Amino acid sequence: MENKRRKVHEELEVVREGFANGVAPGFPLSNDEKADMIDKAEIAFGQFLDALKCDWRNDPNSMETPRRVAKAYVNDLWEGRYTAMSPITSFPSDGYDGVIIERNIPLISMCSHHHQTIGGVVHIGYISGEHGQVIGLSKLNRIVELFGRRGAIQEQLTSAIHNAVDKITEGNLGVIVTVVANHSCVSCRGVKHQGAAMVTTKASGAFRDDTNQARKEFFDSLKINNGGHQI
Ligand SMILES: [Zn+2]
Repeated sequence: MENKRRKVHEELEVVREGFANGVAPGFPLSNDEKADMIDKAEIAFGQFLDALKCDWRNDPNSMETPRRVAKAYVNDLWEGRYTAMSPITSFPSDGYDGVIIERNIPLISMCSHHHQTIGGVVHIGYISGEHGQVIGLSKLNRIVELFGRRGAIQEQLTSAIHNAVDKITEGNLGVIVTVVANHSCVSCRGVKHQGAAMVTTKASGAFRDDTNQARKEFFDSLKINNGGHQI
């Protein structure tokens, strides 16, 4: 099973192993390896707080913080670098030749540059074609989790999600991915501007043509009862 998962990931990964937005060497890590990583990261984060002159060992709110932070990275924020998702299955489209769209997929990620959170939504559209492959709907969410739960830059994240959908729906007539996200590194530090959203789109096949009906249908669908999210 692990070998099969490893193979799936090798096909989907586009970033060098070991980079913040790539998988960790030895991916996927065993539970023992993750526990060992948490122990090491806990010690290192305690030293980080020491450098910031934080008396965390005696502060009741901070004494467990190095371990909390280490666990949050390994189990949640960077989970996609260490833990494989279940293999993605695809099915014959059985003659459906329209656009398939899943919008408002929640995105939580972390910027590689500043280690601040990124929060937003991902919209995915693709055309499997009459004789193509469709992906189980929740699997699109899982692809977003796999690549979002890492260090990320939004442009590369958009491409990674696009390329994964493109690969899994081999023979498709086009794939489009739009990411709308707020970056804490913009709102909390540096320029400190709240509410600025970054929008990135990666399109291929039929969706690349500005005049294409499928592209129009994709962007129009994002405006309908869209829960306040802007595209
Ligand atoms: Zn940043």
